[in-house]
Amino acid sequence: MFRIHINASEPYDVVIENNSLSHIADYIHPLKNPCQTIIVSDDNVAPLYLETVKASLTEAGYSVCDYVFPHGEDEKNAPRLIDLIEYMAAQSLTRKDLLIALGGGVVGDMAGFAAATYLRGIDYIQVPTSLLAAVDSSVGGKTAVNLKAGKNLWGAFKQPILVVCDPTTLDTLPRKEWINGCGEIIKYGFLDVPGLLTQLENKPLLKNQEKAIDIIARCVQAKADIVEQDERESGVRALLNLGHTFGHGIEKASRFKIPHGNAVAIGMVLMAQGAVHHDDLNPAVVTKLKNLLETHELPTETSITADELLEAAKHDKKSQGETIKIVVPTDYGHSKLKVVTHEELKGYLIK
Ligand code: NAD
Ligand code: ZN
Repeated sequence: MFRIHINASEPYDVVIENNSLSHIADYIHPLKNPCQTIIVSDDNVAPLYLETVKASLTEAGYSVCDYVFPHGEDEKNAPRLIDLIEYMAAQSLTRKDLLIALGGGVVGDMAGFAAATYLRGIDYIQVPTSLLAAVDSSVGGKTAVNLKAGKNLWGAFKQPILVVCDPTTLDTLPRKEWINGCGEIIKYGFLDVPGLLTQLENKPLLKNQEKAIDIIARCVQAKADIVEQDERESGVRALLNLGHTFGHGIEKASRFKIPHGNAVAIGMVLMAQGAVHHDDLNPAVVTKLKNLLETHELPTETSITADELLEAAKHDKKSQGETIKIVVPTDYGHSKLKVVTHEELKGYLIK
């Protein structure tokens, strides 16, 4: 069992414990007296875990309703968010009540945004059930939905009051979602998390639930350290976007057929190749990175054109006027922030 404290403006804990869902109320009770609770989930996760969470809460005296929507990135949109908010209002949820996001990053981002804005903000808890959500999206308080113009363009910062991760839920996670989560985990390996890359090289993480608990804790700790320094992403937090500048473009250009973690993997390779071209990185590191990604069954290249990627990067949230903040690998396990012009960014797409 791991309990990681996040010292944000409103501090909270991340509990990582096998079978924690069956007694989740034990963790909630010290923070929140019995109240009305809405569990938000998707139609893959709800049939598997909703009743377990509900049973623990009702036994502890909480009243529970739920909102279950179809799974998938396509559902992380404005009409779905409004439908959820309308449902919360129809249930007469008050400011004293609680929202629980039970699922992957799609559920977490959308339900978190609903909690951030409904009645100008109510408490919420992240219960990540995908590997990607466990290591990344459930921690740090970024919430959003997608707009037609791009990903995560409508959102808010809102820290949860608690994160409860039960790694046994990963038993039912499809292999392709494990692969997707590994994209973000390998990203952490390049953000100065000592030993993480070696740990992944020795044995791939795929479908290795026992190994996952330790790796989730390492990644959450790394994210905690960064978020504590820069909660609102005015500086060092941007490092977490390694692989994302081109990654977001790849997701968008593929109409989200290429999932987030896979797109980040390709984005990291592109940035690493660009760094070699700019003499910031030894070419041997690109080979090592590619090998590690391939061992985790992640893609390392794309047929999407440089023009499309550059166009998407211009609309990226990290883009300001003529410049954009990018994250460049500088060694195996290390990266740095760099501000470049859009013109200079072109130079990073040379193979
Ligand atoms: P997801 O929520 O779509 O989950 C992936 C799939 O796995 C879905 O079909 C889901 O139903 C299913 N699933 C989840 N847990 C399961 C389980 N235990 N058993 C069986 N099936 C399960 O996607 P994701 O990869 O978890 O998250 C991606 C989203 O997270 C993207 O929208 C991305 O933008 C966002 N994200 C946000 C942040 C942040 O800081 N807020 C960070 C990274 C990613
Ligand atoms: Zn990401």
